[in-house]
Amino acid sequence: MARELVLNLVIAAAVGFVLTQIANVATTVYLHRSLAHRAVTLSPPLVWVCRVVIWLLTGIRPRQWAAVHRKHHAFTDEAQDPHSPAQLGWVRVQLLNVVLYRRVARDREQVAKFARDLPQTTIDRYLFDHALLGLGLTTGLLMVVLGVGYGAFAAAFHFVLYLSLSAAVNAIAHTFGKRPYENSATNLQWLAWLTSGEGLHNNHHAAPTSAQFSLDPGQVDPGWFLIRLAQRFGHATVRHSTPILATPRRMNA
Ligand SMILES: [Zn+2]
Ligand SMILES: [Zn+2]
Repeated sequence: MARELVLNLVIAAAVGFVLTQIANVATTVYLHRSLAHRAVTLSPPLVWVCRVVIWLLTGIRPRQWAAVHRKHHAFTDEAQDPHSPAQLGWVRVQLLNVVLYRRVARDREQVAKFARDLPQTTIDRYLFDHALLGLGLTTGLLMVVLGVGYGAFAAAFHFVLYLSLSAAVNAIAHTFGKRPYENSATNLQWLAWLTSGEGLHNNHHAAPTSAQFSLDPGQVDPGWFLIRLAQRFGHATVRHSTPILATPRRMNA
């Protein structure tokens, strides 16, 4: 009985982990590299797939995410940065990332200012802006497939892991790790493995319009691998073939 319980919990956690990874791919490729930075343009069918994934697995409104993130780049680790460990301490950013995010995401003026190229569309108004509907559908489906208890556990596991990893990029990847380029973000390969490349955050702040986050030999950016795969099938167009640096490499790096 106890063995069965543990096995079912492990299966539910594995399902939650896979959902987080799918959400991470849509976050880094669509929300971050495509929408916020225009580093890659995705085909309309792929945009739709990503939008549905974001709605069902994160509840994020893309234009809000892009606005918060662009503000982060505009004021990195300054007083106006929405989630700066240099200003607030990394523990506070790690634990309160959602609160910090919502402060800017819910501010219509800020969203209009930083994401004026991403207006609310009709489909947003009637479907994608209803975050609880998307997340509720996912949770309900998991409960049907895995049973009520294990389905709820899988959904909770996914939500906590997704939020923790997103927070880690803002908190840990601005505090611990290597800084080969002259900016306050850091590179952490272990975090990059868990976030489809987002952990190579120092590289990203160095070349924000690059669709590729891996800049040095030995670095692995799973998101870039998937973009190249999409490119091969005609579903992605990359802006720069070689990354353009916004901040220089450190002398000793
Ligand atoms: Zn950053
Ligand atoms: Zn960025």
